[in-house]
Amino acid sequence: MHIRDIISTNSKGALEVHDLKTRIAGRATFIEFHMVVDADMSVGESHVICDRIEDALKAEVPSVRVTIHVEPDDEAKLPKGTVAVPFA
Ligand SMILES: [Zn+2]
Repeated sequence: MHIRDIISTNSKGALEVHDLKTRIAGRATFIEFHMVVDADMSVGESHVICDRIEDALKAEVPSVRVTIHVEPDDEAKLPKGTVAVPFA
């Protein structure tokens, strides 16, 4: 399973993902990361992206718990205009 690939493929609309952390505890896999979006994006729109990523991870990773920290674009670690939702 390629967690980065799953997140990257399903995070269209976001600008960047960074600080990915995964932890396995018993049978559960905990995944958390920061997702940078345009500061003007609505809560509703960013939530749609979060749901899409969460659903994709749940489909691939058994007993997964996902925590996504949404940040405005001044938290980005990569230069503006970078495409394809890279990991910093
Ligand atoms: Zn961050």
